[in-house]
Amino acid sequence: MRYHESIIDLVGNTPLVRLNRVAEGISATVLAKVEYFNPGGSVKDRIAMRMIEAAEASGALKPGGTIVEPTSGNTGVGLAIVAQQKGYHCIFVCPDKVSSDKINVLRAYGAEVVVCPTAVAPEHPDSYYNVSDRLVRETPGAWKPDQYSNPENPASHYHSTGPELWAQTEGRITHFVAGVGTGGTISGTGRYLKDASDGAVRVIGADPEGSVYSGGSGRPYLVEGVGEDFWPTAYDRSVADEIVAVSDKDSFQMTRRLAKEEGLLVGGSCGMAVVAALRVAERLGPDDVVVVLLPDSGRGYLSKIFNDDWMQDYGFLDEGGPEAVAADVLARKDALEH
Ligand code: PMP
Repeated sequence: MRYHESIIDLVGNTPLVRLNRVAEGISATVLAKVEYFNPGGSVKDRIAMRMIEAAEASGALKPGGTIVEPTSGNTGVGLAIVAQQKGYHCIFVCPDKVSSDKINVLRAYGAEVVVCPTAVAPEHPDSYYNVSDRLVRETPGAWKPDQYSNPENPASHYHSTGPELWAQTEGRITHFVAGVGTGGTISGTGRYLKDASDGAVRVIGADPEGSVYSGGSGRPYLVEGVGEDFWPTAYDRSVADEIVAVSDKDSFQMTRRLAKEEGLLVGGSCGMAVVAALRVAERLGPDDVVVVLLPDSGRGYLSKIFNDDWMQDYGFLDEGGPEAVAADVLARKDALEH
């Protein structure tokens, strides 16, 4: 019989898939690391496993304990799955810009969710950082993984994502592109690839316009899971060679193209990372291999990025409208006839 003891044995070892149509005209090979193949549907399963196992080993998390974490959803899903399999309780604190789809997923896995306002400063008592600190103080047996400062976050990528990419590309990867949220993915994966290649692999961070990583002041943007208004310690500033800032509009339009043209139904931070990867790949040649990491699935964004009305309301849709649809039909009819 071939089976796994638990769903959490399936974390990691995600596939690499070539980007074809969105990379048309580019001579470099552009490959996507598709992280929605993780059991919780995102890259964050990797850090959940490693942070929990390290806390068990150090005694910070005791049998029957409660995990309390501010999370935009994906880290929560990873923690919730690993926690339930190992017998822990979870309380998550989310900002209110997170879609209700994502919050309902956390509750489905058995976690408790507390929703906080986005429009307050991080030091405000109602900010999701402060609410989670208060919950940790008030809950007996509570442990806060704190993905923003936990060294096991980048370490999980140093020990899994990085080696996987090196092996999957047979050491031919030349550029690695990832969105930056906590900074764990880019710092851990990027550091491993630099170590493995004697510094040859170039590491590029993708960041929403307005976020601090690309020199912004922390003004709001709509892409979820990436960008910050402070500098987390999980982010190692010495790893990225370059940071590319991408607008919400470009991010979301590319996210929709990935679903329509590559069959990849992924989240908005994936579209953002692909825009950055293609900007980098445009300047490269046929021997270059660019890998872009796609953190999650598009299922959590059906009522936003994949909803025409929502896109139209924010002015993110150039396509659409009756005239555009008619022109599209005519163009396709024309193509069939010629
Ligand atoms: N995209 C999404 C959807 C995320 O949830 C996260 C994690 N916050 C990231 C990208 C960024 O990954 P990291 O925290 O490792 O920088």
